Amino acid sequence: MNIQNYINGKFENPISNEWVDNYNPANGEVYGQIPNSSKADVENAYIAAKSEFPSWSQTTLEERSKILVKISELLEANLERFAEAESKDNGKPISLATAVDIPRAASNFRFFGNAITQFSSESHETIGQNAINYTLRQPIGVVGCISPWNLPLYLFTWKIAPAIAAGNCVVAKPSEITPMTAYLLGDICNEAGLPKGVLNIVHGLGSTTGQAIIEHPDIRAISFTGGTETGAHIAKVAAPMFKKLSLELGGKNPNIIFADCDYNDMLETTVRSSFSNQGQICLCGSRIFIEASIYNKFKKDFVEKVKQLRVGHPSEKSTNIGALVSKQHLEKVKNYIEIAKSENSIILCGGNEVSVKGYENGYYLQPTIIEVKTDLCRINQEEVFGPVVTIMPFNTEEDVLKMANQVKYGLSATIWTNDLKRTMRMSKLIEVGIIWINTWMLRDLRTPFGGVKASGIGREGGFEALRFFTEAKNVCIKY
Ligand code: NAD
Repeated sequence: MNIQNYINGKFENPISNEWVDNYNPANGEVYGQIPNSSKADVENAYIAAKSEFPSWSQTTLEERSKILVKISELLEANLERFAEAESKDNGKPISLATAVDIPRAASNFRFFGNAITQFSSESHETIGQNAINYTLRQPIGVVGCISPWNLPLYLFTWKIAPAIAAGNCVVAKPSEITPMTAYLLGDICNEAGLPKGVLNIVHGLGSTTGQAIIEHPDIRAISFTGGTETGAHIAKVAAPMFKKLSLELGGKNPNIIFADCDYNDMLETTVRSSFSNQGQICLCGSRIFIEASIYNKFKKDFVEKVKQLRVGHPSEKSTNIGALVSKQHLEKVKNYIEIAKSENSIILCGGNEVSVKGYENGYYLQPTIIEVKTDLCRINQEEVFGPVVTIMPFNTEEDVLKMANQVKYGLSATIWTNDLKRTMRMSKLIEVGIIWINTWMLRDLRTPFGGVKASGIGREGGFEALRFFTEAKNVCIKY
């Protein structure tokens, strides 16, 4: 099946007629092609967005809200079709796409459709000077949104929904590895009555299509989620052009387990926070630190539980672990397991590819637990982004804090303890943007979302996203 660009409300082939193969990770076969859009396609998308901007930016909040909520409803009505497409494109279990990815994409539109009706700006009376200041929060104009492959529609819409809610027009690019649900979104937008040109979706490789977006002199802001190296490249290109930038990048998140936690709840959640979506979630807790007094018990119980996870075809309801997203990614993850072995770490379970009957060319890997001797080894410092976690014991709160922070990333952390004072102390000292205490990935869309250090700059979510997608302009009136 061939995917087309969605520009000015219409579906189009790329001008150059250049295409890229799209693979099904569950069987390793090519099942379609996507445009490798060039500068000229991005320019057309930009022109469509620019022409619509004067009208869209003046559309009432009620009208914008109505359209966004309608998109949300249509996504929900098409849940099964979208979930199947997401699972086939990405390799994730259909159960996950049905329960999480597509409902969350729908929530993103509903949430920002509602949030924009509550978004307001400030006014400051300058006392003693007979003056009043008010701040306008104006949409930026045409903005670029670029997203990764791990949660395709979920992260694509996490950017697009606030961008258009705030009155911008968008040139968006999903990952070339998982383009399908973004393609299907075009029809839904038309059906919901989104004016043509508000959202334009161009498909293609990062080095061609993505590069054309970030280099475009009149695309004034870039919201990007993806790898840290790509983020650094985008910052280099965009900074001299003074574009507004939001960068959500990689992570190597600590999962810190104290002996006084609710053990069963912790164990169950830790299996999820380690291996959901084949461990390909930027928030997965890939470095697990366990208080020494319960280390041996945890090690035994965790290995036992993880061995029960079923690796299988994504479309089967009983599958816990689907396929990794691509051959190249599978090789990268396998290579990290070899690196761990060469560093004298111990593979406690997993570590090998899985041959799924009937789908022998799919990209399947066992969930893997690695016991490390030091937190400074490569497997514990570099982002693997697959079904691989490390475990090691710690003795004191000070020791584990040091290890948690001794890494270049700073996205999220999880702490398991019933000691309130400890959670308060540690939450202040851990260098990340998001902390979960006694839970994982419990999301409230109003909260700020993002990381520090090599995990990025800027925050998404709630009013933070609406602030990013608007410019504050102050007006001072003397009376
Ligand atoms: P990636 O950086 O390879 O690609 C992300 C997107 O950027 C893709 O659409 C790609 O085509 C595009 N791109 C690549 N080169 C570009 C260029 N020169 N100019 C413009 N765009 C370009 O990342 P990925 O492999 O798709 O995703 C995995 C990474 O994403 C992991 O590092 C993961 O941690 C990170 N991630 C972060 C978050 C977060 O919220 N912090 C969420 C999900 C994933």
